[in-house]
Amino acid sequence: MPLAESELAALVEGGCPSCLGTKLVVSAYVTQNLPLLEGELYGRPSWAYKGEDLVRGTFTIACVGCKATLYETAACFLCGRENGIREALEAESTFALPTKCGRCDGARMDARAYVPIDVVYAQKRTEKARTQVEPHEPGFHAFRAECKGCHEVLARHTPCALCDG
Ligand SMILES: [Zn+2]
Ligand SMILES: [Zn+2]
Ligand SMILES: [Zn+2]
Repeated sequence: MPLAESELAALVEGGCPSCLGTKLVVSAYVTQNLPLLEGELYGRPSWAYKGEDLVRGTFTIACVGCKATLYETAACFLCGRENGIREALEAESTFALPTKCGRCDGARMDARAYVPIDVVYAQKRTEKARTQVEPHEPGFHAFRAECKGCHEVLARHTPCALCDG
């Protein structure tokens, strides 16, 4: 079961029961938009999620101070598959970023991907979301690309856009 928004808020406000620390790191899968030119990143990726998406994609909440785990799930939040999140973190993307549009030959595309992020909370959110994952690295899972010119959309065709389940 994914976390409810109220459960996340309660965990974050309660802090760490082991060391009483108030700084927690929430790890979650969220979506990112990536501007592409010929299949390569062209400009700065931007976040494409809302608060409720962050809650839904949360898979670990841990204490920054003592590293205690306050919440953990390995099930994929999209398809519910057991261990889906763990496998997604270790697997490379199976959706190749297109180098050009199959319809108009345009080289500029907007891709969308699931990436794992860390957000640090100290009773409320304190820092910007960060990700360490680049497109060619394990954990990054592109699932859609749209041509900037003709808006042709290419989408991943595996049963689950995140974990391949
Ligand atoms: Zn702690
Ligand atoms: Zn096109
Ligand atoms: Zn899945």
